[in-house]
Amino acid sequence: MDCKEAEKRIPPFLQDELDGAELEEFIDHVENCPECKEELSIQFLVTEGLERLEDGNNFNLQKELVMKLADAEHHISLHRTLWRILLCLEAAVAAAIVTAVFVVLRL
Ligand SMILES: [Zn+2]
Repeated sequence: MDCKEAEKRIPPFLQDELDGAELEEFIDHVENCPECKEELSIQFLVTEGLERLEDGNNFNLQKELVMKLADAEHHISLHRTLWRILLCLEAAVAAAIVTAVFVVLRL
């Protein structure tokens, strides 16, 4: 993903609309690209800041962005774990089918 694409995904990321591979690519880019991380910080502060001003709450937005990124990374690792389990299950099913075929052929 290049910076232009990453920038386009900042608003959907802030609205929690990114998922799966899109989210993973976005986080990978932002974590390794200071410019896009800066841009994300600014957009996050502007978007969330305006909402908070309307609510009149106290806030620590910089910390919240860090938490949001950590959340996304947690989400990605969960996604990877599920994917691995799925691959294992598929391998197990394939092995069972192969075994069954051998059993049937021998009979
Ligand atoms: Zn970038």
